[in-house]
Amino acid sequence: MIDSHCHLDFDVFDDDLTHVIERAGEQGVSRFLVPGTTPNGWQKQLQVAERFEHVDIAFGLHPYFPDFLTNSNVDKLQVMLDTHRESVCAVGEIGLDKTVDMPLSQQEDIFSRQLELAQTCELPVILHHRKTHHLLIKHLKACNFSFGGVIHAFSGSKQIAQEYIDMGFCLGIGGTITYERAHKTREAVKTLPLSAMLLETDSPDMPLCGYQGQRNTPIKITQVAESLAHLLDTDVETVGHQTDANYRRLFLSSDSGRDCPSA
Ligand SMILES: [Zn+2]
Repeated sequence: MIDSHCHLDFDVFDDDLTHVIERAGEQGVSRFLVPGTTPNGWQKQLQVAERFEHVDIAFGLHPYFPDFLTNSNVDKLQVMLDTHRESVCAVGEIGLDKTVDMPLSQQEDIFSRQLELAQTCELPVILHHRKTHHLLIKHLKACNFSFGGVIHAFSGSKQIAQEYIDMGFCLGIGGTITYERAHKTREAVKTLPLSAMLLETDSPDMPLCGYQGQRNTPIKITQVAESLAHLLDTDVETVGHQTDANYRRLFLSSDSGRDCPSA
């Protein structure tokens, strides 16, 4: 199984990252994607990817860190992508967040520049959303984005999900589905094709139901897979096998996300 979204570069993993990765490995979690957040993080991600063979990385400016959402940092991102093109499998985590203390119009300027970089580099994107699906879809359509990607921590309706899938995107399925109260998302997920899903934990954040207040780690991907198998009325092996294949198709094949199927 693959954890397609875990922030293993965050300080909270500094003391025991080897242990965290080894323990996950013992439970069959064999690959990890560490998305980017800020320029400082990019350097650390490179170090993590060098230390661990099965860690993939992406670079991007995350809307949670609005101080870093500047044009000069997008210029830095361009240099990083050019310099480390071979080491990078996506642009992200990028997106729009209505709860962040920065006007959406400003976020949109930086987001659209990052989207353009991904298009130029022929890389898929890892998209962060919060009450912004309509804007994300607007920007993807405006630049005719053609390399696909993943909607991180997907929540929303079946219709929204299908719109992304039709544009070549996969949906990141994480701890949210372990909460009974996430009724709308759980119902939407039930109706969607497993061929368009990736598993993710968002470690160290988004703890699963029953683990609130604790640091989340990639080993929990096994429980996300169990919840998903239950919702889809299938078995964990099928979930693991198909989501691994989706990940490889999206992030590890040279022609990237264009093949993400819609059915
Ligand atoms: Zn994240």
